[in-house]
Amino acid sequence: MQLFQLIYKSKKQPSFPVENLSKFTETIRKRNKARGITGVLLFDGQYFLQVLEGTDKSLTQLISEIETDKRHDEITIILKEPIMQREHPNWGMRLITTSGSLLNPLTEEIISISNHLKRKRHRTDSKSSKIIQAFSKGLWTQNDHQGVDKQCNNLLGGLVKPPQNVLSEKHQFAFQPIYDAHLDSICCVEGLLRGPNGESPISMFANLPTSERYQLDVESKYSALNIFVCQKFDGYLSLNLLPGTLIEHPKLVTKLIAYCKQINLDPKKLIIEITEQEAFENINDFIFIVNHIRAAGIQIAIDDFGSGYAGLSLLSQLQPHKLKIDRAIIGDVHHSGPQQVILEAIFHIANRLGIEVIVEGVEKEEEFKWLLNLGIRYFQGYYFAKPIFGGFSIDNSN
Ligand code: C2E
Ligand code: MN
Ligand code: MN
Repeated sequence: MQLFQLIYKSKKQPSFPVENLSKFTETIRKRNKARGITGVLLFDGQYFLQVLEGTDKSLTQLISEIETDKRHDEITIILKEPIMQREHPNWGMRLITTSGSLLNPLTEEIISISNHLKRKRHRTDSKSSKIIQAFSKGLWTQNDHQGVDKQCNNLLGGLVKPPQNVLSEKHQFAFQPIYDAHLDSICCVEGLLRGPNGESPISMFANLPTSERYQLDVESKYSALNIFVCQKFDGYLSLNLLPGTLIEHPKLVTKLIAYCKQINLDPKKLIIEITEQEAFENINDFIFIVNHIRAAGIQIAIDDFGSGYAGLSLLSQLQPHKLKIDRAIIGDVHHSGPQQVILEAIFHIANRLGIEVIVEGVEKEEEFKWLLNLGIRYFQGYYFAKPIFGGFSIDNSN
């Protein structure tokens, strides 16, 4: 039977008395033993870290029970992977606690775990022992900002469909707001390309040969600007462009700026999102064009950061004004240890480089709250508003 190791972190509910812990451990030890689950439970006075070893089925069942257990909160899965043999075979849920200071008593116990693993001739550099050590150093709990709580009712109340659409025959746009949690208002809208009947950009781009794809990308931007100026919104307009479009049409930005003047729109209100799906052929040519955009006062965002080619090397070479973090790293972040540490690191990098972080694809209140606690200010996603086809109207005043 294939064995798995599962490591999760959770927070003790304030109503769960610490004095009951040994009784609690005894009960779960018996329950787990009956199911063939072994492991270690660490408790630092506030947080639990639990290493579990057993079959996939038994662990999946256990986790679904823990999720409804009123004694834990903020269940975060850090690791789940197949293992060759048990690392903690005899410890049918050994409890290691320290109620006051985190480091000292726990460190001794952790040395004892390491020694135990050594004696058993297991690899002492196993992931579980490293995660246990990270927990004992407080690395898994240092970002507990506790309870920034916020609603964003204003935003939803302020969003209404316009009485009439500004239509273009060929290209339509849907607009999705970006929410500024500090000011509790909409600071920006992203223009998302649509066909005349609401067709998705993916399907519009899909069957076009490359040069026509770039042509569509270029032409559609004028429609986006036309619709945007009719909305009387004083925030930013964010537009997507393929890097290939900018390289093939190097005069595009100059033309767009000229067009902005014509329709009486301040080009400084524009943000260009670099939406990349292919590797760059020549990054230096591209940076040259991007610098030209910056010089015109237009801000640059890297879109879908963390997916495809929008990775660390693009970030270091481009140093954009904004990073839009791909929704793959956002979905269910409140339950995922890897997503949490990755986001914490990206946020740290961005802060040090003076780059604003926008999170995309926020769909749930729990995701919003976790991200808000991390310190994120700008949000986009269905939780706030879906893209609005044909135009929008925003009243930030209520
Ligand atoms: P994107 O720029 O990352 O835009 C966000 C996409 O995610 C949009 O899909 C939006 O509807 C969707 N979205 C927003 N919030 C949520 C959410 O909470 N959950 C989920 N599941 N999805 C959410 P859309 O409009 O289909 O656009 C897809 C992609 O097409 C865009 O991704 C962008 O890469 C590209 N695109 C859109 N307009 C243009 C354009 O004018 N030019 C270029 N080159 N690409 C464009
Ligand atoms: Mn985008
Ligand atoms: Mn995106």
